[in-house]
Amino acid sequence: MPTIALIGNPNSGKTTLFNQLTGTTAHVGNWPGVTVEKKEGTCNVGGEEWTVIDLPGIYSLSPYSPEEKLSRRYILDARPDLIVDVIDATNLERSLYLTTQLSELGVPLLLALNMQDLLKRDGVEIDTEQLSRMTGCPAAEISASKGTGLEKLIGLAKTSVEGHVVPACPLFSNEVEQWLTKIIADDYLHVIPAGRPPRWAAIKLLEDDELFAESMPAPPPAFSAMMAQARASLRKTYGDDAESVIIDQRYQVAERISDACVHAIKQGRKEFNLDTILTNRFAAIPLFILIMAGVFYISIQLVGGLTTEPLEYFFGEWIPIHLGGLLDRWGVIPFLSGLLIDGIIAGVGSVLTFVPQLFVLFLLLSLLEDCGYMARIAFIMDRIMRSLGLSGKSIIPLVIGTGCSVPAIMSSRTIEHQKQRELTVLVTSFIPCGAKMPIFALMIGAFFPDRWYVAPMMYFIGILAVVVTGLLSRRLDKHKEQNAFIMELPRYQVPTLKNTWLQTWERTRGFLIKAGTIILLSSAIIWQMQSYSFTFRAVDPTNSMLATLGKIIAPLFKPLGFGTWQASVALLTGIAAKESIVSTLSVTLAGAPLSSIFTPHAALAYMVFILLASPCIAAISAMSKELGGGKKLVKALAWQTGYAYIAALLFNLLGMLVL
Ligand code: GDP
Ligand code: MG
Repeated sequence: MPTIALIGNPNSGKTTLFNQLTGTTAHVGNWPGVTVEKKEGTCNVGGEEWTVIDLPGIYSLSPYSPEEKLSRRYILDARPDLIVDVIDATNLERSLYLTTQLSELGVPLLLALNMQDLLKRDGVEIDTEQLSRMTGCPAAEISASKGTGLEKLIGLAKTSVEGHVVPACPLFSNEVEQWLTKIIADDYLHVIPAGRPPRWAAIKLLEDDELFAESMPAPPPAFSAMMAQARASLRKTYGDDAESVIIDQRYQVAERISDACVHAIKQGRKEFNLDTILTNRFAAIPLFILIMAGVFYISIQLVGGLTTEPLEYFFGEWIPIHLGGLLDRWGVIPFLSGLLIDGIIAGVGSVLTFVPQLFVLFLLLSLLEDCGYMARIAFIMDRIMRSLGLSGKSIIPLVIGTGCSVPAIMSSRTIEHQKQRELTVLVTSFIPCGAKMPIFALMIGAFFPDRWYVAPMMYFIGILAVVVTGLLSRRLDKHKEQNAFIMELPRYQVPTLKNTWLQTWERTRGFLIKAGTIILLSSAIIWQMQSYSFTFRAVDPTNSMLATLGKIIAPLFKPLGFGTWQASVALLTGIAAKESIVSTLSVTLAGAPLSSIFTPHAALAYMVFILLASPCIAAISAMSKELGGGKKLVKALAWQTGYAYIAALLFNLLGMLVL
């Protein structure tokens, strides 16, 4: 079964094309870095099943960022039958830089000139035949999102795979070519690992590519001497090191091809540029704050305010009364009806109450993401982020984190530098995820119903934690990393209904699935633990297993203002899933009001603690994967929880003074 790999710059439409070809609905994001692991699907090519692989977006095949390494290793080791280079045709020159590298890999290459619809709108024409001639690759004009040109693409794919036509490599300057010829002729090149074309290997050796050098045995002295001579000679001619010379010449090739193939046929329509406002030096950040505050206001305050009460009534009274009556009439034993009504329905229901407001929150966030605004935020934040030891790209995990920390932590993989990446993983869960929202909504509803600023405030306390952590780590770690931020600003677009719905539903569904599984189970267990003692006798909740456990850890939280066993035990169950905190409180309070265990300032401290302390088990395992487990993970968790403790303590004290 032949395999096609989709490769291209971030945001060129690979995932959209993948979905079109395979009919699946992988997550599509209107910003770079959303695809972090390769996705696989199948596509029907003339009655045959072909495998299609969606790889992370990359700008080059240099060995610096994890995705570039992943994509490069994949092509060289797995040797797909065809690479489809997905090109954003409105950005041909930049895309061709990667194409020059892909054509050296000795694998058939097909250019998919995507975004034809936008090209037309901009009044630009690309001479596809000329492009094909100059690159030596077949090319198809497509629009992945509109689904046009796909038959042509599939047809060309079939011919390329069957004919196994390998593209011609771009030529460098005479001097570089002469050195390459010498290197290729050397005996040392006989030991290159399988699947690496000699010309490609020679270029990598000349560039002094560390990743490739590692895969080779140590070179003989004569070869090293020749390389030294080559590099010295290139430096003399071009005044630069060999790697830069090659990069530079690749850009020249890309520019030459682009100049020959791109024609403006008419003056593009002049559009009103939103960026003059949204990325304005002074207005950008206040606007961002305003927009985020608006998002939280609409979802939590407005929609939440409208839906919470009826749903609470439904799950808290209507079902218990009706179902309770029914169970009584059927003569169901009290243990079972207690488990069902006071355990499962109280627990799961208390979480389901938040579905409407979360749905709206997810909807608004995916609209912001899809229309291109989020990527701009990353751009605006770049300088600030770097001063915090983070990368501009760190904003991506931080924003995805408002949905769920797990994909957010995974998306930190697009950050090139290890230190920045690890720091991003550490701070990502400071951003309130969707699962923490119900707790905030619950507390705000009970204690601060008229204070609109409390929900956005949680968000900004999270951001403050990111800032403080970043500043401290820069302090502790003198090693400064400067790397330019290359990130494309995707164009603004009207979000598509399908994409928005998919993302919103995907996130809401995750929430519902958790309610039906982890929360259901933990509600049932918690109900039993709070109805029985360690000797399995039915007891008053205050003497139950849960109370006993809670009382052991409660003193720890006394200084924070919420040292009751109910509040403490809820924190424990929150490790399984943060939504469980709400269901645990609901089950353990058994109808008593929240104000029986929280004062307003304790409620505030409780929210702050939950916001900042170690995330749920799923996010912890994602952190472990990205940090490589062990000491780094323990350190990260200790920092998060320690910080949360201190912050909650401060808020409790401050709250006492202010509230
Ligand atoms: P990837 O990063 O390469 O996987 O890119 P995505 O598939 O996530 O697409 C990036 C953005 O470009 C999304 O907002 C898509 O809806 C949009 N897009 C993809 N293909 C086209 C196209 O042919 N025309 C237009 N107008 N937009 C497209
Ligand atoms: Mg993608």
